[in-house]
Amino acid sequence: MTEDVPPSALDARVLVLNRNYLAIHVINIRRALTLLYRSAAEVLEVRDGLYANYDFQGWLEMSELRSEEKRSDEDWLRSVNFDLQAPRVVRLVRFDRLPRQSLRFSRRSLFARDGNECQYCGRRFPPQQLSLDHVLPRSRGGDTSWENIVCCCRACNTRKGGRTPREASMTLRNQPRQPDQGPLLARHIQHPKYESWKVFMAAASSPVELR
Ligand SMILES: [Zn+2]
Repeated sequence: MTEDVPPSALDARVLVLNRNYLAIHVINIRRALTLLYRSAAEVLEVRDGLYANYDFQGWLEMSELRSEEKRSDEDWLRSVNFDLQAPRVVRLVRFDRLPRQSLRFSRRSLFARDGNECQYCGRRFPPQQLSLDHVLPRSRGGDTSWENIVCCCRACNTRKGGRTPREASMTLRNQPRQPDQGPLLARHIQHPKYESWKVFMAAASSPVELR
């Protein structure tokens, strides 16, 4: 099925819901088709506010019906014998995985949140030249959390030392907080072709992370 597939269709992303219609992650189209083919997932389509569920065979038939009149916001996978519309949302039919509660707290995700920008002087650095600063120093009871750690260049880190920003007369560019969702996911949701994801993102008790 990979012959003559335009790159845009294979680049399409698919939102995965668990059995209870909660968004749990985002996968590529190949993975989604494998899940469908193995009957581990079904296609969930939202059209005009109505949900329709399709197993793989049903989706093939639906694709065949629509293939004569493809719309510009759809992605299509072409093979020798048939065209298959790329699903936007699939729902796992067997597993009850819960959405991740939040982004993993890590050095990398802290740098990503702050855009590799020192939160004191505002300059951008490669990650290896950045450190992490406890806004309220640990020695003063500051915790290691999204709300108390920021990206910081070495010069600013040295200057600040074991003091609070106020004591060091330094100002934070942004109030640090836990990111709402993965930046990649946010970018996808802005694209009109992933419009149908929104309803599930709003329904999820917490944001999902791209993996
Ligand atoms: Zn700095």
